[in-house]
Amino acid sequence: MPSPNKVKEADNILSRFIRLFYSKDGYVSCFTCGKAYRISEMQNGHFIPRGNMTLRFSIMNCFPQCKECNEYKDGNEAKYREALTEKFGIAHVEYLDKKKNVIKHWTDFELDELIQKLKTKVKTMEKTQ
Ligand SMILES: [Zn+2]
Repeated sequence: MPSPNKVKEADNILSRFIRLFYSKDGYVSCFTCGKAYRISEMQNGHFIPRGNMTLRFSIMNCFPQCKECNEYKDGNEAKYREALTEKFGIAHVEYLDKKKNVIKHWTDFELDELIQKLKTKVKTMEKTQ
């Protein structure tokens, strides 16, 4: 089992990465409703809920979402599925639906690698902001 702190750190840096990656001029659009907000107001929304450790840190499964879609609408799943299919094709959604049944146990070492990789990318993106 990975340490909860590592999981939390990976969640945080991935969220930063996802929001920065899809942002433009400090704003980012919600993947499921299209409304644009400041990066800091946005969240990292998971299509397959983040309790699933196989897809928790997958960039195929993570896109920016507003608080309303992510929290109040519980991920806005139907709309999420629609947007994923529209943007990436049905094969993308089918892949995630299949992959979610695979069991993944992260080690602290693997999470450290992921965290470092994302940190480097975030730093580069922050420089060009
Ligand atoms: Zn939204």
